[in-house]
Amino acid sequence: MPQPRAVAAYLGLAIGDALGATVEFMTPREIAAHYKVHDQLIGGGWLRLKPGQVTDDTTMALALGASILEAGRVDAHAAAIAFDAWMRAKPVDIGSTVRRGLLAFRKTGDPKRPPDEHDAGNGAAMRVLPVALATLGLSETEVRAACRTQAHVTHNNPLSDAATETLALMVHDALRGASKLDLLHQRAHPLAKQHPEFTFRACRQRMNPSGYIVETMQAVFQAFFDTDGFEDCLIDVVNRGGDADTTGAIAGMLAGALYGPGAIPWRWLHGLDAATRYACEMQAQALLATS
Ligand code: MG
Ligand code: MG
Repeated sequence: MPQPRAVAAYLGLAIGDALGATVEFMTPREIAAHYKVHDQLIGGGWLRLKPGQVTDDTTMALALGASILEAGRVDAHAAAIAFDAWMRAKPVDIGSTVRRGLLAFRKTGDPKRPPDEHDAGNGAAMRVLPVALATLGLSETEVRAACRTQAHVTHNNPLSDAATETLALMVHDALRGASKLDLLHQRAHPLAKQHPEFTFRACRQRMNPSGYIVETMQAVFQAFFDTDGFEDCLIDVVNRGGDADTTGAIAGMLAGALYGPGAIPWRWLHGLDAATRYACEMQAQALLATS
């Protein structure tokens, strides 16, 4: 049954975002000194969030998802309009590549960025979940194309594309009941084989991951594949510090899809901002119904 796992993936994205935002840009040493282990939805952080409040990772995904539901498909122009409206509403945070892309869209009206080696940030990957949920029934080629359509509104880069597409396909596999080992062998290892930058095995643990998609994915994969549950995975990844709201969001999406709603701790589910929780649950079901 893909539907409960789809809802869990969306809740995982939001919970990981809210959990990680408290320690975003801190080092693992600073986190340990402050919290020993950070594992509660307490808000704060450099954005001074309320407990359970999410950031751009979740709100951009919700904006993209709403544009897909309205347009009936993944559409670059609809996504760009939705992101632009999101930016005008003064979100709590916004990535520099996202801002640059959206300002260019305002000027030119073109929702597609030209290829750019500096666009290898994690901003396109962090918001890919609604595309994954809306394309569950499509071929792998179509899924990859839909991922790039949304990504290229702000990030047009081969490493960003490869990670974004891999994440969407991993969500699909997990919704269909794939095991963690399947995801490792069929998706994560092939990504690292195709782009050796993403190597995450037989190398150092990635601490302090930056917003560079390679570092983000290394931290997410190490945490996701070396833990055995939703809670352990999220605690592992956010306590690595760095871009912790985004690693938390991506790891939470994967862990929610893999482990399902029953694995989400009660204190996190009910600690998440109530309106966000409702929006994620509703949108996950609506997107899946279109696929
Ligand atoms: Mg954020
Ligand atoms: Mg972040």
